[in-house]
Amino acid sequence: MIERILVRYGDLTLKGKNKKTFINTCIKRIKERVQNDVVEYKKSHNRLYIILNGQAADPIIKQLKTVSGLAGFTKVSRSDKSIEAIAKTALKRLKHIKKPTTMKVETKRSDKGFPLTSQEISQQVASIVLSSHPYLDADVHHPDLTLNVEVREENAYVFTDFIEGMRGFPVGTMGKGIVLLSGGIDSPVAAYLSMVKGIEVELLHFESTPLTSIESSQKVIDIAKKLSRYGINRSVKLHLVPFLDIHQSLLEKVPDAYQITIMRRMMMRIAENFANKDFTPVLINGESIGQVASQTLDGMKITEMVTRIPVLRPLATMEKNAVINIARNIETYKISIRPFEDCCAVYTPKQPVTHPREMYALRYEKLFDYKPQIKTALKNIKTLTITPESDIVLNDAGFTVEDALTEED
Ligand code: ATP
Ligand code: MG
Repeated sequence: MIERILVRYGDLTLKGKNKKTFINTCIKRIKERVQNDVVEYKKSHNRLYIILNGQAADPIIKQLKTVSGLAGFTKVSRSDKSIEAIAKTALKRLKHIKKPTTMKVETKRSDKGFPLTSQEISQQVASIVLSSHPYLDADVHHPDLTLNVEVREENAYVFTDFIEGMRGFPVGTMGKGIVLLSGGIDSPVAAYLSMVKGIEVELLHFESTPLTSIESSQKVIDIAKKLSRYGINRSVKLHLVPFLDIHQSLLEKVPDAYQITIMRRMMMRIAENFANKDFTPVLINGESIGQVASQTLDGMKITEMVTRIPVLRPLATMEKNAVINIARNIETYKISIRPFEDCCAVYTPKQPVTHPREMYALRYEKLFDYKPQIKTALKNIKTLTITPESDIVLNDAGFTVEDALTEED
């Protein structure tokens, strides 16, 4: 009964060539996800129609919800061009309403040959719908819902709902960023928010198996699966950095209070190096001001001082609750709270320094020869291309990610 889906784009304040790229990329992302040869796409000004040709609307809308750059969607029913037919179609669309609800009708008439004005159409349709529906009442000022009628040359169209999209920019239009992804709650949300803004992300995870459990790496793979739904071609690259040697060295050599600071600086050095290899312009992490001892402004400064690449922190000023809400919506929350710790939670000192100083960081970094270790880590990065359907299970294969992946092959 739904004949087409009306897709509205997000930020149409863009002008000229940017707008064209925006719209064309949106359509590309939509087609990648919908993957249905029966439906047809019809561009119209600042909208897109997906003509369903008998295909179900809901599975397609589920996919559209993963396309950044879209403001929202409306399920549109076709009707013959008579008041009775329009009212009948409207009643079908409204029959799920089972509690008192107010509504108004709004009509657009592009068929200027139609014998009634827009206002007359609205009034006459409303009169039939309101008198036939047990729960609907009129309210033209603050209605609970608006029934939209469009009378065009070929047909009339009826729709009511507006389903919110991701908004933002289509992924890929803003270049690329490397997200430092842990198994925690925050960095997956940072990755998602970056994708909403049109950034193509690649995920970089530092794993210290067997010092950390294999399950903590599995979490990251499972989180990547969820994030891949929003990526170009429904996929995302996950790079696993073997961090064990560096991790062990710094646990041995660096005084407790500075271990987290130094660990972060090592991660940054590797991440920057990795990003530079293919000219990726930014790093992205899940830090939020004051959330843990190491995420003070001084902490962030000392961490970032080892790099020259900009570091985006989409969560910097967000409240934890807001972050958790997003994590729930994108289905990463449940994975993140599985009780396996990643490298930063395991062996954490009781009192990490909250206002680290560069002088000490540099001094402690001289206590071990990290440069060759960084080189080796970079050389041994394992890259997985993850999709929502990926079926990578590490658990029984070995104690380390490397074993597990070798057994996989
Ligand atoms: P998260 O929930 O993202 O783990 P957090 O509040 O637990 O964040 P930390 O564990 O201190 O904070 O980590 C801060 C940021 O450093 C993370 O958001 C992430 O971007 C990065 N990070 C931490 N551990 C790793 C790791 N093992 N691999 C890659 N990035 C990491
Ligand atoms: Mg963490």
